[in-house]
Amino acid sequence: ETNGKSDIEIASKSSMKPIADVASSIGILENEIELYGTYKAKLSDALLKRLSTAQDGKLILVTSINPTPAGEGKSTVTVGLGQALNRIGKKTVIAMREPSLGPVMGLKGGAAGGGYSQVLPMDDINLHFTGDLHAITAANNALSALIDNHIHQGNELELDPGKIVWKRALDINDRALRNVVTGLGGASNGLAREDQFDITAASEIMAVLCMAENIQDLKQRLSSIVAGYTKDKHPVTVGDLGVEGALTLLLKDAVKPNLVQTMEHTPALIHGGPFANIAHGCNSLIATKAALKLGEYTVTEAGFGADLGAEKFLNIKARAGGLKPAAVVIVATIRALKMHGGIAKNDLRDSNPEAMIKGCENLQKHIETIQAFGLPYAVAVNRFTADSDEEIQALKKWCEDLGHPCALTEVWEKGGEGGVELAEIVTRLAESASAFSPLYSSDAPFKAKAKAIAEKVYGADDVLLTSKAEKQLADIEANGWGDLPVCMAKTQYSLSDDPKKLGRPDGFSITIREIKPSAGAGFLVALTGDIMTMPGLPKKPAALHMDVDENGCAKGLF
Ligand code: ADP
Repeated sequence: ETNGKSDIEIASKSSMKPIADVASSIGILENEIELYGTYKAKLSDALLKRLSTAQDGKLILVTSINPTPAGEGKSTVTVGLGQALNRIGKKTVIAMREPSLGPVMGLKGGAAGGGYSQVLPMDDINLHFTGDLHAITAANNALSALIDNHIHQGNELELDPGKIVWKRALDINDRALRNVVTGLGGASNGLAREDQFDITAASEIMAVLCMAENIQDLKQRLSSIVAGYTKDKHPVTVGDLGVEGALTLLLKDAVKPNLVQTMEHTPALIHGGPFANIAHGCNSLIATKAALKLGEYTVTEAGFGADLGAEKFLNIKARAGGLKPAAVVIVATIRALKMHGGIAKNDLRDSNPEAMIKGCENLQKHIETIQAFGLPYAVAVNRFTADSDEEIQALKKWCEDLGHPCALTEVWEKGGEGGVELAEIVTRLAESASAFSPLYSSDAPFKAKAKAIAEKVYGADDVLLTSKAEKQLADIEANGWGDLPVCMAKTQYSLSDDPKKLGRPDGFSITIREIKPSAGAGFLVALTGDIMTMPGLPKKPAALHMDVDENGCAKGLF
């Protein structure tokens, strides 16, 4: 809850159009969507086929400084900018991620924007939506069951029960499931072994769904997923188990993008939601590509700060999908900049332009990263009512002195109207030519790729591999996965691998302690620091505030 009114209160007072009307506003015919009630729909295969020859619009990527507990509002700005672009006459489609129940019931809140820049129906979107996450959970756990059954029924593929890397999944923060023992109760109940649970957003199936070009590519990628290894370290894949067809079948509807609307009826495709630390943190390629065909402009977002989400969007997703962003928006808040400037969370209410300017070193680093990719950018200052005028003026001046295009955005409070200045800057930038290129070439060796990311994006001096990671890398290269792009798993709070180092740390190196192939998704996950793939609930989970009234209306969803 912010500024006195909660997101659900604001959302419940706004009216929606039937989704068929929203679809028709971007040229989608009635029989080209599959309705899920009145306000949600999936795009049909026929539509995606028809669109394949349409021209692409311009792609705007929204990213941010390193997040702090003070909140940045990336999704809010993404929705607000989409609404603002529509207001200035640019037909715009938003492409965002699907929320996970983990953060919804836990700490962070939803992922449907905020204030007067939300996607609707926000309660459905934040809860079960069209069931995509449940389908992914089912596919994930079907694979676990099929692996255990294969071993139980004679283990023809000679999987080593101690080398099964596929984990079970659930879309709830549940620390008690981080480490479990399955198959207890004697031989008729299977082989007892240690297993682990990941949150569904961290499942490789989620990443696969988001990287897939279409259903055939989905099947191909699922087939490449590694289930485990034999005693002599030979990988056993989903394809070896012969179950890629079944897993694809479980995902046949989940692979279709979901269409909803914002509070101002701007169309939004909400589809897929992989973690931005362990995976690549962007909505599905299918949805982004469909949005590009449907609108003159597409506004999309990548998770966490530009060091994680945008880096992976540009080095992994854009490369795989042949996307070329026209401009990047970097969201910053005065509160978060003050935290990067050394102010404690409890003291953020006091105006402190000096600390804020100190914290701008974090913003500056992310700007340099976007410049390194050759892309035009604008800073969006997401205004909170407590921000003082002197702080806003100081930030504007800082941007002006350094030549950074900058717009004060008030989309939380005013909807699209509060983002018109940003929309105008963005359209101007998007019309200029850009020279986008990823930061490393795909055939560079793993270490060169990791070094390019660490040096150019994090500002690190060097990358170190533990002896465990060195051994894993040798196996990965022997299995022919050496050419895959690198998906860094790093804390979101810092440019370094130490979450306590805010601002713009220097004189540090990055340590990769493990490397895991995501052969289906098509990247190598490099783990630094302690990365949690099954979060726990906080002391006072958001669930404590939730309720539903006698009419079935949600209450207390942020
Ligand atoms: P992110 O995408 O960066 O995680 P969100 O856009 O989801 O952030 O916003 C997180 C929370 O902060 C939401 O509940 C939203 O309503 C709130 N919020 C965002 N921007 C503002 C603002 N300018 N004023 C007040 N609350 C805001």
